[in-house]
Amino acid sequence: MEDVIRHKEGKIALPHNALLLTFDDGYAEHFNHVYPVLKEMGIQGSFFVPAKAILEHTLLDVNKIHFILASLANTADILQDLKFDIEKNKLKHQLKSFDEYYAELAVANRFDNKDIIFIKRILQHALPEVVRNELSSKYFEKYVGIAERTFAKELYMNTWQLKQMVRDGMHIGCHGYDHYWWDKLDNGALHAEISKSKDFLQSLGCDMTNWTACYPYGSSSQDVIDELEKQGCKLAFTTEVDIVDIETASPFLLPRLDTNDFPPKSQNYKQHG
Ligand SMILES: [Zn+2]
Repeated sequence: MEDVIRHKEGKIALPHNALLLTFDDGYAEHFNHVYPVLKEMGIQGSFFVPAKAILEHTLLDVNKIHFILASLANTADILQDLKFDIEKNKLKHQLKSFDEYYAELAVANRFDNKDIIFIKRILQHALPEVVRNELSSKYFEKYVGIAERTFAKELYMNTWQLKQMVRDGMHIGCHGYDHYWWDKLDNGALHAEISKSKDFLQSLGCDMTNWTACYPYGSSSQDVIDELEKQGCKLAFTTEVDIVDIETASPFLLPRLDTNDFPPKSQNYKQHG
């Protein structure tokens, strides 16, 4: 990562076909399975870690939703719950109707069918924060049935592990405090989200003259880029699927390939670069 930063600053050349490995969301599997292999091979990994999940043992909404979906016998159960709970909360929180949300959000993408994408979108950002937090916790309890704190301690790395990785030359980057969609926050909330995440990186012993970021859910915008730049960020990574043309790419809009873009899942990587 530091080589890419120095290259974008015009200080060093990068080898042809240089490769940068990034890992999002701070999973314990990254410490247990990825880090030992990288260490043995002498390769640096870059890990973008959501601070709150690590410090407060809460689950990211995205993970809560993954495990709810994985525990469902069929998606009709939770669609029925959502219909009931949206109608129940409609007046109090000025919600749209279930059918309106469904028409707007149930659009399949390259990973998910329309019911799955609807459940993800409605619980990740379409409902107001207070409602979606309440509902995703309620459904987690109903369908997964394990205490969130216990589950979070198993799922994510801890600060001791992260500090060891930093000492060992791994790069740990900013992925927000609360894993919000950054482009949906107002300026004050965005500033706080990034500042708190930087404090966390500093507490791990990261080099704060070379800090980088990865947009949660790929949520970049010009306002977000301006804030990152103002706070001294050097590079930021999107979820746009592409191979980086490092000479022309904006340092704040670096695309990546996802593991899902490689065999056995797909051949998407061949369409790029
Ligand atoms: Zn993430």
